[in-house]
Amino acid sequence: MAGNSPCASCKMLRRRCAKDCIFAPYFPSHDPHKFAIVHKIFGASNVSKMLQEIPVHQRADAVSSLVYEASARTRDPVYGCVGVISHLQNQVAQLKMQLAVAQAEMLCIHMQHEPAIPAPESFDRADKSFLLQNNLPQCLNFVSPTSNVIQDSLKSESLLGHHDMVSY
Ligand SMILES: [Zn+2]
Repeated sequence: MAGNSPCASCKMLRRRCAKDCIFAPYFPSHDPHKFAIVHKIFGASNVSKMLQEIPVHQRADAVSSLVYEASARTRDPVYGCVGVISHLQNQVAQLKMQLAVAQAEMLCIHMQHEPAIPAPESFDRADKSFLLQNNLPQCLNFVSPTSNVIQDSLKSESLLGHHDMVSY
């Protein structure tokens, strides 16, 4: 390299940074940590092989992915970025459940204030209470899909129980 400092990879590996160095465009010398973490998890030669196998225009994205996966693996050596995905899926499931419960509550409140079917005048009190009882299962049906969500989130939690102790 004429006058230029070697890329972060070559600097760390203590080798000459060639003009066509495969790491140079993605691992600049001012960000040594980026290469250090990828090298630690995947190994420089594996990263080099991976980059050679993919088209040039996809290499920057591949490096971003490798850096992300390597840092996730450092934080969570067992699950890596799969742990992050599961954690987020768990959050989505919990929020969906909260939303469904809130919607069911709204529906029940709505039904209490405005009966869906206007009762004809000939209906006596017993018929009206029968109608209300018939409306109630609709409320419950609305809630029931959440039970799957609850089960799913319980499954994920038992699978990833340690995540409560891991901060993201
Ligand atoms: Zn280099």
